[in-house]
Amino acid sequence: MLKPYFLFILPVLAMLAVGFLAFGGGRTHAEEPALHEKIYVVTTTSHLADMAENLNPGSLRIESLMGPGVDPHLFKPTSSDIAKLKDADIILYSGLHLEGKMQELLQTMAKEKPALAVGETIDQGHVLAGENSPYDPHFWMDVTLWQHGVEQVAALFKEQDPRHSAIYDAKSEDYRYKLAELDSYIRSSISSIQDKRKVLITAHDAFRYFGRAYGMNVVGIQGLSTESEAGLRHIQDLATMITDQDIPTVFTETSIPKRNVEALQEHVSHEGGRVQLGETLYSDSLGPKDQIEGTYIGMMMHNTQAIVQGLGGTMTAASTALIPVL
Ligand SMILES: [Zn+2]
Repeated sequence: MLKPYFLFILPVLAMLAVGFLAFGGGRTHAEEPALHEKIYVVTTTSHLADMAENLNPGSLRIESLMGPGVDPHLFKPTSSDIAKLKDADIILYSGLHLEGKMQELLQTMAKEKPALAVGETIDQGHVLAGENSPYDPHFWMDVTLWQHGVEQVAALFKEQDPRHSAIYDAKSEDYRYKLAELDSYIRSSISSIQDKRKVLITAHDAFRYFGRAYGMNVVGIQGLSTESEAGLRHIQDLATMITDQDIPTVFTETSIPKRNVEALQEHVSHEGGRVQLGETLYSDSLGPKDQIEGTYIGMMMHNTQAIVQGLGGTMTAASTALIPVL
C-alpha cells in the first residue's frame, strides 16, 4: 500500500517528468548519448574508475565494483558484480594479482571483451616483487607508473570509441600534466623531511612503490603482535629504530588492532622516547566520493600531507593544477 502522501507526490512527479521531457530533457539528449547508448566501463577499484572518469568525453558510463574501504585482496564478487562484468563493454582491472579472488573470472572475461590489467602494462623492470608473492601490486603509489597507466587506458578507449579520439588525447594530456605536477609536489614535500626520519612505518605493505619513488624507507608494522616471540622482537627492534632515529610518527590503517600500536608506544617510552599515531593513510581504496580523498590526486595529496606533517617536514605549496574540482 502507498502511504497517503505518496498519492499526492506521484502526480507532481509525473508533471515534473513531462515538463523535463518537453523542455529540458530533449536538449541534453542531443548533446550527450542516452545512458543505454553509452559505452559501459566496469572497473574493479575506485582508483581506476577515477582514472577513467578523467578521460571520459561523456560517452562512457563508468562504474567501480569496489567502493571506499573495500579490501581488493579479499574482495569476492557478488552475483550482481558478475552481472556487471558480463554487461560491460570494457573492463579495467589493476592486475599483478591485486584482485586475488577474481583472477580467473577476469581472465575468462578478457577472452570475450576488451579487458585491460593496467598494472601489467608496466615494464617488468619497474614492477616490485611482493613479500610472499611474485609481484607487489600497489603500483599506483608511484605517480609516474599511474601516468603510464593513463596512456594505456586512453589508447584502449580510443580504439573502442574512435569518434572521440581527439578528446581522449586532450584529456589524457591534461590529466598526465596534473599527475606530473602531483609527482613533483610529493617529491619536494617528502624531501623536506630530515634524512634519518624518512622512515614510513605502516600497517600494510602498500607503500613500497611510494618509498622507492620518493626516497623513503618503508617498514611494515605487520606481525606487530606481542603474542609470539618473533612479534615481541619485531616490536623491540622497531622501538629501538624509532628512538635512535627520532621518528615521531607511525602510520596505521583502521584494520590494525589498537593494542599493537599501544604496545609499540609502550616499548618506545621504555627507551625514553615517544611516538604518536599519524593520520590514516589511504592505500587500496579511495576515500568517500564527496571528499577530496575520493579522487586519486586528492588521496595522494592527503597521504603526502599526513606523512610530511607526521615526520616533521614542510609541505611544498600545491600548484593550481592540483586543486581538485569537487
Ligand atoms: Zn594492498
